[in-house]
Amino acid sequence: MSVIKRAISADGSVVASAVDATDIAAMIEQYHKPSAVVTAALGRLATAASLMGYGQKNENDRLTLRIDGDGQIGSMVAVADSHGNVKCCADNYIVEIPLNDKGKLDVGGAVGNGTLSVIKDLGLKEPYVGTIPLVSGEIAEDIASYYASSEQIPTVLSLGVLVAPDLSVLHAGGFLIQLLPFADEACIPVIEKNVAAMPPVTDMLKSGMTAEDIVLRCLEGLTPNLLDSGEACYRCDCSRERTSRVLVSIGKAELQKLAETHEDIEVCCHFCEKKYVFTPDEIMGLVR
Ligand SMILES: [Zn+2]
Repeated sequence: MSVIKRAISADGSVVASAVDATDIAAMIEQYHKPSAVVTAALGRLATAASLMGYGQKNENDRLTLRIDGDGQIGSMVAVADSHGNVKCCADNYIVEIPLNDKGKLDVGGAVGNGTLSVIKDLGLKEPYVGTIPLVSGEIAEDIASYYASSEQIPTVLSLGVLVAPDLSVLHAGGFLIQLLPFADEACIPVIEKNVAAMPPVTDMLKSGMTAEDIVLRCLEGLTPNLLDSGEACYRCDCSRERTSRVLVSIGKAELQKLAETHEDIEVCCHFCEKKYVFTPDEIMGLVR
């Protein structure tokens, strides 16, 4: 389980949330067997989706982050529910590129140029979709830019995933700090000072800091109060029934063609790699 904590400054100007997403990133590694830079990229995207999805108003609200880049990873998608549970996938899981000039996994290079879309499904007829050009492909910067340009919410977002040489995930996590409407601007320099003094998230987790320690550190000097906390995990909500509905959506003619091959049809879930097998008879059953 990954712990999420949320806190608010005493004057109600600024809210922060933090997550130790190590378990979520470890599941990404287990399900998708990505190379190190893809684990870092997907781990960051999933951590961000978890922080942004957590606390959505309604139980069935869904938040999706989609990156379409021209780098080797291709497109990446992460979907989070209102508890911060998340699932994610990418076009290409094996990307081998040199470290960047800071000696770190080159997420920006693997993502390339392109767009970030934030899709909010609030159970209305049409989901809300906001799309911006990627700033760096490093993900945290791109999402902060989305908030600034599309939602006019001043935001600080930090994400980190530390991958071991054997490709296992050592630490992953992130924090999100946002000004609330009518915020007292006096809090801005305090936040800026806090953020500048904070080590990278994975260093904080490595030193034993918890999500609660991190969220309180974000709001240090602003008399933070803990708002709430939750536990999130990598969770895929696929099922045989949902998979059948996807098959039905391809249309009767296509289904008939599939059934006439007289071979079992295997449908693999992009998010958890689970395989669902349908016999030709079962496919014909869907046509009716
Ligand atoms: Zn699945």
